[in-house]
Amino acid sequence: MQHVIAGNGVAGVTAAQAIKQADSAAEVHILGAEPYPYYRRPLLWEFIAGQTEQDALYFRPPAWYAEHGIHLHLGTRATALDPASHQLTLADGSTMPYDRLLLATGGLPFVPPCEGTDKQGVFTLRTLEDARAIKAHAQDVSTAVVIGGGLLGLETARALRTAGLGVTVVEFFPYLLPRQLDAEGAEVLQSLLEAQGLQIVTAGVTEAILGDGRADGIRLKDGRTVPGELVLFSTGIRSQVALAQAAELEVNRGIVVDQQLRTSAQDIFAAGDAAEFDGQVYGIIPAAVEQARAAAANMVAPGSATYTGTIPATTLKVAGAELTSVGESVVEGEEYTHLRRTDGAAGQYRKLVLHEGRVVGAILLNDKPRVRPVTQLIDQKVDVSAYTDRLLGDDFDLKSLTQAH
Ligand SMILES: Cc1cc2nc3c(=O)[nH]c(=O)nc-3n(C[C@H](O)[C@H](O)[C@H](O)COP(=O)(O)OP(=O)(O)OC[C@H]3O[C@@H](n4cnc5c(N)ncnc54)[C@H](O)[C@@H]3O)c2cc1C
Repeated sequence: MQHVIAGNGVAGVTAAQAIKQADSAAEVHILGAEPYPYYRRPLLWEFIAGQTEQDALYFRPPAWYAEHGIHLHLGTRATALDPASHQLTLADGSTMPYDRLLLATGGLPFVPPCEGTDKQGVFTLRTLEDARAIKAHAQDVSTAVVIGGGLLGLETARALRTAGLGVTVVEFFPYLLPRQLDAEGAEVLQSLLEAQGLQIVTAGVTEAILGDGRADGIRLKDGRTVPGELVLFSTGIRSQVALAQAAELEVNRGIVVDQQLRTSAQDIFAAGDAAEFDGQVYGIIPAAVEQARAAAANMVAPGSATYTGTIPATTLKVAGAELTSVGESVVEGEEYTHLRRTDGAAGQYRKLVLHEGRVVGAILLNDKPRVRPVTQLIDQKVDVSAYTDRLLGDDFDLKSLTQAH
């Protein structure tokens, strides 16, 4: 059976390995539009910061593919898909047939409408190629502005700071990390980041990139200006759906998949940042891995695996601060109970979100020992209603409520 995977990111590589594990006789081909073997995108921050060399990024060097019997086609983009004849067309005009196809084409950075984005020194960060360009430019300038105070924006800001630049982060929302944090938690985080030398501007809507051909800052809608000879947009992603769309597969924000990771076309699956499951494009590695494994299982043995969603969990480490946000941490509504505890002096913030007596989300800032038990409480859907007044206490043993204790 010939399995073809479009996309050599974490979803594609995970699926290829899982297919070979389940069926060693399977013929597996990975097409990668980028010229590099698989690298971990989070390592791009270390690369930009000057802490890791390019050669150390390749988590799966070419020999790994060969050892696993996986055919790797680098610098090879699939440009068209014909579901009826089970065939892909590649950029060089050649064709590749498949019995089962996985679309693991990932996402691309989204840049909101803004004047002057074509100026020199304006970047987005997704690929190693992007990181190389950012790193080269950073060597010639001394200030940077990162537009977007989400997880990726803050990590990129930290990398640029480590590289020696004066960095300002501009966030559209009134506080940082709006997808993972509430206002109280964000306030604690902001103080920690400022103490590390980052400038933070919130409620800032970027209107224009300033500079004559070459960026030297940005102007916000309220008239404020922020200096930055390197301007980096970190304002979300859009799934890469062009191939699927042209082939008339069902596409919404991402390529729509069911619990078997099947698309609307026979024998075509999708996983990772390209896929939309239950109305969601997750955009995170754990979801890409879980989806890729389930897709691979179903490509080998149809109906053998069911995917029901991923509980988003993110951890951010910013020079001493460790922030974890799990599950439904920023939901609003009367049906939710929010338990909070702040210790500004210790840079600590603890929040649990309860729904019908069960923990459904949490924010833990500088509270590492609680991360595992809280995640287990969420996974195991433990009824904690008898303990709500004590749950956040320093001396309360959350582990005692979990099944694994
Ligand atoms: C700098 C950075 C740091 C990150 N850090 C974290 C983190 O710490 N934790 C976390 O959970 N997530 C993180 N993410 C997000 C994470 O990287 C993505 O969720 C993950 O890469 C998704 O994997 P994927 O395989 O679906 O897509 P991708 O990694 O985007 O891979 C898709 C690949 O498919 C290729 N492709 C696209 N179209 C075609 C085509 N037609 N033919 C052939 N190839 C094609 C693309 O070139 C790309 O190489 C980070 C992202 C970035 C940019």
